[in-house]
Order: sequence, then structure tokens, then C-alpha cells
Amino acid sequence: MNAIIISVGDELMMGQTIDTNSAWLSTRLVALGCTPLYHKTVGDDLGGIVDAVLEAGDRADIVVITGGLGPTEDDMTRHALAKTINVPLDLHEPSLETIEKFFRSIGRVMPPTNRIQAMYPRGSDVLANYWGTAPGIHLVIGAAHLYAFPGVPREMRGMFERYIVPYLEQMSGRSIVTESITTFGAGESTVAEALGPLMERTRNPLVGTTVSGGEVTIRVRSDFVTREEAMQACEDVVLDIKKRMGDWVVGVGGSSLTETTVNMARSLGVLLTVAESCTGGLLAKLLTDIPGSSDVFLGGWVTYSNELKVNELGVSPDVLSKDGAVSQGVAMAMAEGALKRSGADYALALTGVAGPAGGTESKPVGTVWLAIASRQGSETRLESECYSFPGERGMIRLRAAKTAINRLRLALLARRTS
Ligand code: ATP
Repeated sequence: MNAIIISVGDELMMGQTIDTNSAWLSTRLVALGCTPLYHKTVGDDLGGIVDAVLEAGDRADIVVITGGLGPTEDDMTRHALAKTINVPLDLHEPSLETIEKFFRSIGRVMPPTNRIQAMYPRGSDVLANYWGTAPGIHLVIGAAHLYAFPGVPREMRGMFERYIVPYLEQMSGRSIVTESITTFGAGESTVAEALGPLMERTRNPLVGTTVSGGEVTIRVRSDFVTREEAMQACEDVVLDIKKRMGDWVVGVGGSSLTETTVNMARSLGVLLTVAESCTGGLLAKLLTDIPGSSDVFLGGWVTYSNELKVNELGVSPDVLSKDGAVSQGVAMAMAEGALKRSGADYALALTGVAGPAGGTESKPVGTVWLAIASRQGSETRLESECYSFPGERGMIRLRAAKTAINRLRLALLARRTS
């Protein structure tokens, strides 16, 4: 089986939106044993979409189109599909009712323009959208099955899992179950070493790794005749991987390091703060990227200058002049100051040399001091570590921020089990 992915939208063509849908679809298709032939991006242009669909329909078993199913004039996908198979658009009453109901549920009357989202090319199948308003469309062009989904990634993903996965399984006569385990703290080669024989390419379930932003994701693909067998084998391997990887495992099923850490803090009912120098707010940004982080994250300080470290966090000018801003003493004083001034249970502090300039022989570019302060009854517990991160400025800052989050995760893990 092979597939062609077409993404539609002027904002993709102009580079204003990055086409993450195609990358996600390719990853899922490959995991399901279906080979992507190519990706194509087309603007909001009727003729362009028709041409892309005709070409794809000639070459692929499956064509997935995302985007252009919205209610506005420039949303052309359904019109283009109707033109391609030379049929008119019909109204799908149940979809219209669903869309009207959705607007009623948010206290609004459906604008007349949204009616178009309930229209579909005559003879095609309407695919209910349980994640948004616009239904998807399925039709057969030559030998190809074509699926058109909304561009919104969450809706597209939900519809892929619901409509394309069962079709692929039925066609191949196999059931494929996949899982991903996110790890942090070990490089890809260390992970591979720990996984050992599990990574042999002839094994089923197949285990592989990918790296992104310092997190190594272990992917499992279990391919059996029945769904039960595939699920059982997948579960067994995931258990084995968790045992081998220990505390490096930060989440299963796509949970990132930060997501897991914020969720742990929430379930423990602890409050967090940060004091940042070299990361300039990145640590706070990563934490607040997680929806609902306001339950646990109070806020923090970006103290780039020595003056602010002294005035805002109470770092001693003597320590600063004796040890320098990038030092254990300053990192600990920043964490302690942030903990006291915020009333949080945990404070993370980072100070380092992100480069490209500013490195010295004793403190080369990449040197970062991390400190974590926590409340132990009326006492404050302080711990610190020095790291030497490779890479350029952006990578050093990202690694520093993520390492701080991981340090917090490990502290929360210890608290949970104590
Ligand atoms: P809706 O009915 O919700 O408007 P639609 O099918 O019209 O959906 P678009 O209007 O094309 O979808 O896109 C909606 C949003 O989804 C875009 O603004 C963009 O943020 C996101 N999006 C669209 N296509 C992609 C893509 N290929 N990759 C990532 N995001 C995308």
C-alpha cells in the first residue's frame, strides 16, 4: 500500500504555517506499513487542488488531503473534489444539524456561511467529525481511496485514527498497534545500548528511536493478525522498555518531559517558581506551554544582570564578585531567593554561559549551573549541579531548561515514593 498526502492552504504556501500535518501523517502511515510516495502543498486554488487530486488518484492507493474544508470563500477542497469527479455538491442534513447544534451549545446561532461545511460531493461518504465542525469526505477516484480532513491538526489526527487506520488494517489483514515512550537524560546511543536486543530489526514488535529537543522517543510497532495479539505484544515490550530505562522514562503515549513534570506537580499539590539567567525566560515558557500550568506555576524572575540578581533575589554581591555570575554559589542563592520570595515549594535556578562569546578556560561556553531549592518543613534544602552542554546557543539554552525540568521531575518522583 502507498499513499500521497496533499495539504491545502495559502498560509502553508506562503510559509506562514508550518505543514506539521504531512509529517504526522507520514509517520503514522509508515508505522502502519503504508509507504508515502510524496507530499504536495497546494494553495487555496480550485484548479491546483483538482490537478493535485487527479495526479495523486492515478498513483496512490490512498490519498489524504488536509485543509480547505472551512466555511470561508477561500476554502476550496470540497468544490475541487466535486469538480474532479464531475458531480454537484449536495446538502447532508445530519451534518447541518450537528453544526447548528454545536453553535447552539456555545450560545450562538450558526452563521449562514457555515452551511457550506455540510455540503459534500454527490456519491461520496460524509465522515463525522467528533473533534470539530467540518465533516470529512471519503470518495474513490480510480483505484485510490481519498480522504479529505480539516486542516486543524487535532481534528485531522482524530479522523485519521477513526477512518484510515481501520481501512489499512482491513486491507493488510494485519493489526498494527503502536506506542511511544519519551525519555530524557540519556543520549540516543545510551538508550540503544540499554534497549539491547529489543532494537534488532527482525523483531516484532519493532523498536526504534527518534530524537527531538533533547528528548529521545522510543517507538514500538507491533504487527500481528489479531488486535489482541498486537496489543499484548506491545504492552509486554513497553513493560520491558520501562524496566530497562528506569528513571529516564518521562512519559508513555506522547507525554513530553514538561507535561509529565507539570502533571506530577499538580497531583502532588506543589507550587513552582524559577529564577533564570542564561535561559532568559525559556524555562518559564516551557512550563507555561503546558495547558493548566497555572495550577502549579506561580511565576518567576529573569535576572540577567548582576544588579537584578542582587536586588530581586538577594544574591550576595560578594559571592558574585568572588565566584562570578556563573557559579554554584550564585545558582544556589538565586534558587533560595526565588523560593523565599515566591512562597513556592520548589525553585529552579539556572546561570550559565550560552555563548557564542563569554566563555573562558575555566568556564567555557556551555557551562551551566543548576540549583534546586525546596521546602522541607521549616528548612530549605538546596542542591546544585554543574553541566557542560554541547552545541550552539539555542541548543545550550534548551538543554539547560529541560535539564532543570528533569531535575525537578526526579525530585518530585522521590517525593512521591518517600
Ligand atoms: P476548519 O473547518 O476548522 O476551518 P479547514 O479544513 O478549513 O478547517 P484550514 O482553514 O485549512 O482548515 O486550517 C485551519 C487551521 O489548521 C490553520 O489555520 C492552521 O493553523 C492549521 N493547519 C491547516 N493545515 C495545516 C497543516 N498542513 N499543518 C499544520 N497545521 C495546519
